[in-house]
Amino acid sequence: MPLLKTRFAPSPTGLIHFGNVRTALFNVLLAKKTRGVFLLRIEDTDAERSREDYIEALQQDLRWLGLDWQEGESQGGPAAPYRQSQRGALYEKYLAQLEAQGKVYPCFCTALELEVSRKVQAAAGKPPRYSGKCAHLKAEEAARKKADGLPYTLRFRMPKSEALTFDDMVRGPQKFPSEDIGDFIIRRSDGSFAFFFVNAVDDALMGVTHVLRGEDHLTNTPRQIALLQAMELPVPTYGHISLIVDAHGAPLSKRSGSLSVQELRELGYFPIAVNNYLARLGHHFAETELMDLDALSRAFDNSHLGRAPARYDRSQLDYWQAQAVQKIDEAQLIDWLAPALKGMVPEAEFTAFARAVRANILFPHDARLWAEAVFSDALSLSDDARRALEAASSDLFRAAVDALNQDMDFKAFADRVKQASGAAGKGLFLPLRAALTGQTFGPEMPALFRLIGFERARHRLTQHVLSSEID
Ligand code: GLU
Repeated sequence: MPLLKTRFAPSPTGLIHFGNVRTALFNVLLAKKTRGVFLLRIEDTDAERSREDYIEALQQDLRWLGLDWQEGESQGGPAAPYRQSQRGALYEKYLAQLEAQGKVYPCFCTALELEVSRKVQAAAGKPPRYSGKCAHLKAEEAARKKADGLPYTLRFRMPKSEALTFDDMVRGPQKFPSEDIGDFIIRRSDGSFAFFFVNAVDDALMGVTHVLRGEDHLTNTPRQIALLQAMELPVPTYGHISLIVDAHGAPLSKRSGSLSVQELRELGYFPIAVNNYLARLGHHFAETELMDLDALSRAFDNSHLGRAPARYDRSQLDYWQAQAVQKIDEAQLIDWLAPALKGMVPEAEFTAFARAVRANILFPHDARLWAEAVFSDALSLSDDARRALEAASSDLFRAAVDALNQDMDFKAFADRVKQASGAAGKGLFLPLRAALTGQTFGPEMPALFRLIGFERARHRLTQHVLSSEID
């Protein structure tokens, strides 16, 4: 059996978002599972909207997520070049072959003519397709029109009375009557090639065996199969994955919260969290734990790809982020936290601090609150902390100041305060936490207490003794 080869074929007209990076991930998982090849092709035929910096950015994004490709852009390979903008000669060659076989014809219909025809079809409840007006134009007439300088497109002559069938990896057997498709444009009047054509030619020439892509391409597939058959090129196996929708069922967009991979990275998400979330968006895994790409690929199965739209839910992404924060090793945790905590945590205490806050943060920035709560000389109090302090008796703080000593741990300290003040449970722990950290929630007190240290603890507790005596 030939090696399985999948691909990702982005158009570099913007930053990669959730939907398209999930497509890349599924293709990586499919290739990895079978020790096949994952290829990256750049579909930059839209010269005006394609940008070099987007090509750079998308590679950076894929690499950050660990979605490495073994062939294609920046890697090279047997089917180079891997940018469509550099493959013009190949497209010309296949187009010439189709022309020579009479499988392509020039179409001189104007945009207005086509528009009217579409409207008439729509009014009759028919699918919009080309009427075939120029399909039987005599060669001399076509030549005369060309000589007159009339703009024209090139249309592919769809084989008649044939149903185009294929077995979709996700959606099962598919059947499209060729009459419903009609002759479609493969070269525009400005000379540029249509997506259907270049995308199909490239998949064939690059040896792509499996095309897993968005459901929005489902209706393109019969056209591409017809083209490949006409050119006698190999037809890959296609699979169309469900779209990602927002909470209202509308396609996920920037406005409904879709983030670019770059934004995810800047927010501090871990690649493993993003991958675990994306992999489960439209694919069912029996495994509920955080998995690396190898484990995800072993568990990946086409038959677990859902046909229903996948709903994007940021809280699920955050759930995987929390799992990742729990799981990363200490060195990684420290590297991840360091830039956000510059100057806030003494070097010698950094590891202990990172350990203490690990369970209470999703992002490096979250740790700043706890760095301040532990190390700040001028502690600020949350509203809840203020209320908890007001509700507590001054005896408690007096007892706390008396109970403190240099080397005691939090349990011993709290026990002594409890004995001396008579406060217990929430009435004891809440005001102590509020006075010591300025918050009423947060990481385990024993660890924070150790980091706050005797001097700061005494200073913080003493303030409440004084203020409660003044009251
Ligand atoms: N450049 C196309 C896109 O970004 C590729 C579609 C495909 O995967 O075939 O939608």
